[in-house]
Amino acid sequence: MSQYWSELTASLEPYVPGEQPKDRRYIKLNTNENPYPPSPKALEAIKEAAGADLRLYPDPTCDALRETIAARYGVTKEQVFVGNGSDEILGFAFPAFFAGKRPILFPDVTYSFYPVYARLYGVRYETVPTDVQFRIDPRSYAIPNGGVIVANPNAPTARYLMLNGIKEILDANREQVVVVDEAYIDFGGESAVSLLPDYPNLLVVQTLSKSRSLAGLRVGMALGHPDLIEGLNRIKNSFNSYTLDRLALAGALASLEDTAYFEETNRKVTETRERTTDALRELGFEVVDSLANFVFVTHPAKEARELFAALKSRGILVRYFNKPRIDNYLRITIGTDDEMEALLNALRDILP
Ligand code: PMP
Repeated sequence: MSQYWSELTASLEPYVPGEQPKDRRYIKLNTNENPYPPSPKALEAIKEAAGADLRLYPDPTCDALRETIAARYGVTKEQVFVGNGSDEILGFAFPAFFAGKRPILFPDVTYSFYPVYARLYGVRYETVPTDVQFRIDPRSYAIPNGGVIVANPNAPTARYLMLNGIKEILDANREQVVVVDEAYIDFGGESAVSLLPDYPNLLVVQTLSKSRSLAGLRVGMALGHPDLIEGLNRIKNSFNSYTLDRLALAGALASLEDTAYFEETNRKVTETRERTTDALRELGFEVVDSLANFVFVTHPAKEARELFAALKSRGILVRYFNKPRIDNYLRITIGTDDEMEALLNALRDILP
C-alpha cells in the first residue's frame, strides 16, 4: 500500500494514546481520566439533547457554551474558543500561530503530541532542557524563537511552574504566541488566565477531560486575545465549522455550571493524590511533587518497565514511556481510594 502514500504521510510518526484495553477489566490508571463520573447535571443535559433536535446542525459558533465559559473566567465570549478536546485546539494552534520561519520551543520532556503536530504542519522546533528533576527554567526560554508551548503542570512529569515563571516566559517573548496548556490546572495550580489582560500573545488551553470527567465527550477550550481566537477560528472553519456536536455542547455547558460537583470531585482527587504520594514514598519511590491528577514516580530498586509489567499482570494499568530520560519512570493516574489501595497492595507484593 505504501506506494499510494505521499511523502508527508509516510514521514509522519503519529501520537499513540495510552491503552484503552479490551481484553479484560483493569484498574485503569494510565490515561489520566477522572475516576468519578461526570456531573449528574451534565448527564441529564446530554440525555435531553439526545432528542429530535439531533436532526439539526449544532450552533457552529457554540455561543451558549462560550458565553458560559466567558462568565466563569471573567473574559468576553470573543476571547473563548472551544474544540473537540484540547488536542484539537492545540492542533489548530500550530498552523495558526507557529508557521513562521523560526523554530518554536517546548521542554525536552513534555506532552508528546507537540512534536507530532510540529511534524504534521512542518513547524520547526527546539526542545529546551529541563533539569535533572525535570524542572523548567523560564530563563532558558529567552532565546530567539517562533513561539513557545508549555504544559503547566507539565505532563508526564507533573512539574508545576509558578505563575511568575509563566510571566517570565511571556515577558521574554512578547512578539510570539505563548501557549500554556493547562490540561491539569484544576487540581491545585493557578491558571494563567489572570495574565490575559497584560499579554495579548498568551493563549491558555484547558480541557473538560480531566477535572470534569468528560474525556469521552471531547471538549476543550482556549482563552486569549480576540485576535488569537480569530486565528483559531480561521483554521477551524477551514476544516469543519461544526466542531462540537449538540450532545457535547449541552453536556459541557451543564458541567461548567455545576461548580459544587466539580469542587467536590477535585477535592477527592487531590486528597487521594496526597495520601498516595506519602504511601508511595514510604515504599521507597521517588515521587515528583504533583499538582495534577497523576504522579510521576521512579523506584531505586526496581525498573519501571518491570513494575509496569508486574502491575499489568495483576490487572492494574499504569503508563510506561519507553523514551530517553523517562524510561525508568511510571506515570500513575489518581483513581479512587479503593483503586489506589489496590495499587499500593500490588506494589507491596511486587517490590523486593
Ligand atoms: N494536554 C496535555 C498536557 C495532556 O496530557 C492531554 C491529555 N492527553 C491533553 C492536552 C489532551 O486532552 P484532551 O484532548 O482530552 O482535552
